[in-house]
Amino acid sequence: MTDVKPFLLGKMTWQEAKALLKKTDIAIIPVGSTEQHGPALPLDNDAFQASKFAHAVAEKLWPKVKTIVTPLVPYGVSPHHMPFSGTITVEPETLINLVVDIGKSLAQHGVKKIIVMNSHGGNTPSLSIALRKVHDMGLWCVQLAWWQIVSDLVKETFKPPHFHADDMETSVAWALGQRVLKDKRVDEPGREPIPGFTRATMFAKAPNILPAFDMTDFTDSGTIGCARNADPERGKRVVSAAIERMAAFIEKVAKLKVK
Ligand SMILES: [Zn+2]
Repeated sequence: MTDVKPFLLGKMTWQEAKALLKKTDIAIIPVGSTEQHGPALPLDNDAFQASKFAHAVAEKLWPKVKTIVTPLVPYGVSPHHMPFSGTITVEPETLINLVVDIGKSLAQHGVKKIIVMNSHGGNTPSLSIALRKVHDMGLWCVQLAWWQIVSDLVKETFKPPHFHADDMETSVAWALGQRVLKDKRVDEPGREPIPGFTRATMFAKAPNILPAFDMTDFTDSGTIGCARNADPERGKRVVSAAIERMAAFIEKVAKLKVK
């Protein structure tokens, strides 16, 4: 018998789903991407992380707060990664429509609160639009990104620049059990296409202007950051804090009254 987690919608029969939906009105939708992550991390990294975080948070909350975790959305909006082999991107409209359709379906079964657990920054604008539409259907919804809920720790724990397949992302992936090709890790801090103004990093000092870009404007390897600095121990500390804070947040969401 496989060890089936009680919150995984995809592993339930419809009767089990019906029974659980009488006890909860919260669904978590993990959303990732399938895109290049430099020479040391696989293409599924964001999808893998979204799924790991969603399962860990639901597990931490269970049975005190029961949630439903939907199957993963493994594709995201990644046109800027397309010059790198293997990347699959979807149009923003595709992601918006998909998330709205998932929300609509869940609402029909009694879900009132939707937590989108997003692991890819390129999805954020499309998910905001999708969630606006889901909100207008009468649901309460939010997107949670692990790096935002622990941005204070990210800043003090990992070597900058913080951007892509860097110290932060490689350490976190490693801690979550991802395939890491240790010997292939590179440090590539990223070019500045307009020196003094355009840097690909999350916590850059002003002025920092990021135009629409292709990853190749900044990097040859696909990494922007210091992946050689990565280690799973620092990753684990940030991962546990992210799980802790997301769970604490959802515990409060569970108490919200939605009309
Ligand atoms: Zn990523």
